[in-house]
Amino acid sequence: MSFREDGAAALEWAARYLERVGELPVLAQVEPGEIRERLPASPPEQGEPFVNVLRDLDEILLPGMTHWQSPRFFAYFANSASEPGILAELLAATLNSVAFLWRTAPASTELELLTLDWAAQLLGLPEAWHGHIEDTASTSTIAALAAAREANGGSVVVCSEHAHSSVDKAARLLGLEVRKIPCDDDFALRPEALDLTDAAAVVATVGTTSIASVDPVAAVADACARSGVWLHVDAAYAGSAWVCPEFRWSQSGVERADSLVVNAHKWLFTPMDCSLLWTSRPEDLRRAFSLVPEYLRTSEAVDSLSDYGPALGRRFRSLKLWAVLRCYGREGLQARIREAVRLAELFESWVEAEPGWEVCAPRHFSLVCFRREGSDEENEGILERVNRSGELFISHTRVADRYVLRLAIGSDRTAEVDIARAWEALRSTA
Ligand SMILES: *Cc1c(COP(=O)(O)O)cnc(C)c1O
Repeated sequence: MSFREDGAAALEWAARYLERVGELPVLAQVEPGEIRERLPASPPEQGEPFVNVLRDLDEILLPGMTHWQSPRFFAYFANSASEPGILAELLAATLNSVAFLWRTAPASTELELLTLDWAAQLLGLPEAWHGHIEDTASTSTIAALAAAREANGGSVVVCSEHAHSSVDKAARLLGLEVRKIPCDDDFALRPEALDLTDAAAVVATVGTTSIASVDPVAAVADACARSGVWLHVDAAYAGSAWVCPEFRWSQSGVERADSLVVNAHKWLFTPMDCSLLWTSRPEDLRRAFSLVPEYLRTSEAVDSLSDYGPALGRRFRSLKLWAVLRCYGREGLQARIREAVRLAELFESWVEAEPGWEVCAPRHFSLVCFRREGSDEENEGILERVNRSGELFISHTRVADRYVLRLAIGSDRTAEVDIARAWEALRSTA
């Protein structure tokens, strides 16, 4: 078989998958170890045709997949890999460039800088910022906090009690201590409670993971400026909403940040993985990460993006982001974000109107936090049963010490009929 024929079969598989993913059980209906048991324990001695891989993908692996591309995937932060992004991934793998120096992949380096400038324009961020791509928000935050530590020598990372666990992990890796600040009734960091003693950085979150609450970034920026502390903004999920002017209220103060992370692989229709890290202080990132051994020395007077983060070898991630931004344009992105928020609003209105159910936190974007009146155990039971049904997949959190269900809309394949099916399944299960 040739690359062309196998490739056509793989593309056909991808197209068929996307057509039927809405009919598959969203959460994998398997027990731990079940998939591995069905696979040979040792590799083949002789090579096999590629069609065998496709066959086993269908027959063995697919039943063990939780379908993130399903229109009824509502857990965590739902995302979607759009068609232009999927195709660009194929092309990036074909080129297989490793962009650690400018000369090892000039187009990759320059396109990455350009697409981050484009994305900054789309989201309304300051023009002068330097942006590059990391794999995940976890890595972006490690990079930002390493730069902060380098810049001011502090030993503490300050964030709210609702900051993402990646902040704790980054601090642990960097040998920094974490200081958690209590939140107000809207689950936002209370700026008057900020204690910046020995602080290297404050991480403010726009769109927290549990409930998508928004920290008062402008007030935090004031405190950081007074104390010379680095301000890192984690907008991994909600930052994509800034493509629409009506959500820019949540951006207030972000223009004064030292660094900002937004995950294009979360709500900007770009396949995993593509985390956008901007900084107003690129020289501090370089100070934290630049390291040029003799074998990487070149004569060009240009920046290498490996000088801005932990990894040396870098994939051509900007190709898929570029493809998405070009194929949708500002208007296409806005329409998709607005539709997700409209569906979340609609779902929220159904919950509010139904006796015996309640909305548990203010909804700012496309995440609805809700619960059935009754005990935590009853709500956990509802979650377990609807997820096991395969009809939809939701996740949970704790808000004000109560078990709360989360329904997050982020796929551009989700339609009104999907949230109607989800609501029907939840009501009949309860
Ligand atoms: C999802 C999320 C993260 C972690 O993102 P990864 O890319 O998986 O590391 C961090 N912060 C917030 C607010 C998030 O929503």
